[in-house]
Amino acid sequence: MAATVIDGKSLAAATRASLKSRIDALAARGLRPGLAAILAGADPASRVYVRNKVRASEETGVRSEVHEFPADVSEGALLERLAQLNADPRVHGILVQLPLPRQLAADRVLAAVSPAKDVDGLHAVNLGALLQGRPGFIPGTAAGVMRLLEHAGVPLAGRQAVIVGRSTIVGKPLALLLLQKDATVTICHSKTRGLAATTRQADILIAAVGRAKLITAEMVKPGACVIDVGVNRLPDGKLAGDVDFAAVKEVAGNITPVPGGVGPMTVAMLIVNTVRAAELSIE
Ligand code: NDP
Repeated sequence: MAATVIDGKSLAAATRASLKSRIDALAARGLRPGLAAILAGADPASRVYVRNKVRASEETGVRSEVHEFPADVSEGALLERLAQLNADPRVHGILVQLPLPRQLAADRVLAAVSPAKDVDGLHAVNLGALLQGRPGFIPGTAAGVMRLLEHAGVPLAGRQAVIVGRSTIVGKPLALLLLQKDATVTICHSKTRGLAATTRQADILIAAVGRAKLITAEMVKPGACVIDVGVNRLPDGKLAGDVDFAAVKEVAGNITPVPGGVGPMTVAMLIVNTVRAAELSIE
């Protein structure tokens, strides 16, 4: 039987709609949540991501501003702007769109975002809080995947979860969140031997690599929940995930599509974090 397709687009819309009462409550106290995006260089994909985040923020009632810099921007100029945004009471969330131009040290730039405004959850303070299981901002993609799993009613406790990809943005935070929910977690990467044998053990299989059709039907346990984080541009210009969707759909129990799966939830969770940051600023 074909898998149930998990609709990330409608869950993201519902997630954003659910913020309305919180945004209204902030408005009653004279506060409108504000998000500032830093976009350095003219990478076309980054430009699209920032545009989507800004549009979704505005539609939800979150004020947004984009701070654009040329590809040859100096680290000093970026850090100076971040210091201004950290001090700006109208800005509650700051996101630095990655990747940054090569001459910039992403670590140093991300470290310059105030942890209280780090709505992408990439500051060491927030990543440390996640590691220790304390409250903090959680990276949007990882948080979005957890919401998708919850929405689909996928049991996690005691189940085998396999994540392919170990980035700080996706794979590692997701592993920590799944551990918090008592899943048994395996992380695979480019040096993993016998990838297919490992993925076939997964009750929950998450692909976050950036290689189209890396996950084939033979790599999936029948009935598994397959979450596709990957975004790949095919030669014909279309978007595809890391999972061979058409074939895996026939084996999996649940599956997320690309587009329309994890992507919209990443944006929704960024907005959730921004509203939370605004609330915390007056609590
Ligand atoms: P990275 O390039 O930082 O990480 C990719 C990971 O995949 C690495 O851990 C790498 O291993 C691993 N990998 C590479 N090749 C293989 C292979 N053949 N077998 C197993 N593992 C492999 O990417 P990101 O985590 O930033 O992003 C991953 C994908 O998710 C991309 O397509 C990106 O566009 C997408 N993405 C989507 C988002 C969304 O909202 N939908 C948000 C963020 C990312 P190693 O560590 O050994 O190099």
